[in-house]
Amino acid sequence: MTPINQLRLIGSFMQTTWLPKFTSRLEFESWQAKRINIFLRTQLKNSSFYRDFIGHPLDQLPIVDKSVMLKNFTAMNVEGISLDAATNVALKNEANRDFALKLDGITVGLSSGTSGSRGVFLTTEKENAKWAGIVIARALPCFFLPQLLRGSKPIKIAFFLRANSDLYMALQSKRIDFRFFDLFIGVEAHLANLETYDPDFLVAPAHVLSAIASAALVGRIRIKPQRVISVAEVLEVDDKVRIEKAFCVMVHQLYQCTEGFLGYTCEHGVMHLNEEYVHVEPEWLDKEKTRFIPIITDFTRTTQHVIRYRLNDVLRVRQAPCACGRVSRALDAIEGRCDDVLWFASTASGEYCPLYPDMLRHALTSAAAVIPDFRIEQNADTLCIAVADQTPQSLCEVEMAIRTLLSRHGLKAPKFKVIPFSANESIAKRRRIVCNQRPANILALAAIKPSNARH
Ligand SMILES: [Zn+2]
Repeated sequence: MTPINQLRLIGSFMQTTWLPKFTSRLEFESWQAKRINIFLRTQLKNSSFYRDFIGHPLDQLPIVDKSVMLKNFTAMNVEGISLDAATNVALKNEANRDFALKLDGITVGLSSGTSGSRGVFLTTEKENAKWAGIVIARALPCFFLPQLLRGSKPIKIAFFLRANSDLYMALQSKRIDFRFFDLFIGVEAHLANLETYDPDFLVAPAHVLSAIASAALVGRIRIKPQRVISVAEVLEVDDKVRIEKAFCVMVHQLYQCTEGFLGYTCEHGVMHLNEEYVHVEPEWLDKEKTRFIPIITDFTRTTQHVIRYRLNDVLRVRQAPCACGRVSRALDAIEGRCDDVLWFASTASGEYCPLYPDMLRHALTSAAAVIPDFRIEQNADTLCIAVADQTPQSLCEVEMAIRTLLSRHGLKAPKFKVIPFSANESIAKRRRIVCNQRPANILALAAIKPSNARH
């Protein structure tokens, strides 16, 4: 990293650490609105997609999604980079497992693309440095601050992911020893090296953390990370319990995706949206405003514009204020992808209603039998169930838990089918609850009006 970008990183770290303390949500929103206005005033003119919207307030700009972004890729970045050129560089990086190749000095990354088309993101070194400063400030517990400032010994971060990126490598410095563990070769292959490295921070997708925790619990690896951070997929309750038992620390989460750094866990263990840098507009899924699809505007990114971008996630709002005193919106859960909401017919009207993955997760984890691992897949009107180490009793417990849940919500039980269980590969993003095929005539969740949705 160049000296100027190192200064940017430090500046961004300090700005995030010592952000003004807001006494009310209203005061924060007014502060945020000023920053968004400056962003729109200075940035819209730079990309041809938004030039017609110069002078318009944020809520008059079009809502876009991944398909719009990919279709208008060149027009939505200020460098005029084509989707083909960016994808080629990203695919070369993936194939070489090197991730250092850039496109005219710009970092190109791919989203995991669990289904459908992959997202492609572009960032400059300046943006990477700024991002690194924000992430360090959000993820670093205050007891690490003296070590970071003194620089007496570097803070060791072990980072497991399916692909590295120059964006993540921006964290590497004299004071932070950032080591990438490539999930391409699995978790097992890394255990010995991980033990030797003995990280202060362990960062990985939840199912990988869980696998490392299982190895630690039986004494196959001895590490003492002081912070454990789950990224890239839903943190399941059973994994959380296992990880916390193995490492005796609270599991934190970073809600980071291709489109931006969206959330982090505070010192009280509550997920907060990173609203000081990303505006999050909720598209409510129910009248009671308990769940929403986030429409995000990242007002720090200037190379590729992420403005009123609808994500494919369902977030559940935390109703009680967080004891930390932050005024940013707090979440109870990132429930998963919109596409993985399941659909069942109402007993009363026959109309199909959504059932959110988190409801199902909760029903199964609070079932009488201990279920080691499971998959639920909806294929139209059939619900396929797979249970690890299955027995007739565990299958029966799962089916009963689902029937009870559906009955409580006034929904008809579907046909059940038992399918073989296969363990998740390390490199694949784990999705325990999947809707492969919605029942006939059911639209995507984003097209459902709140009045039709149950909670
Ligand atoms: Zn908090």
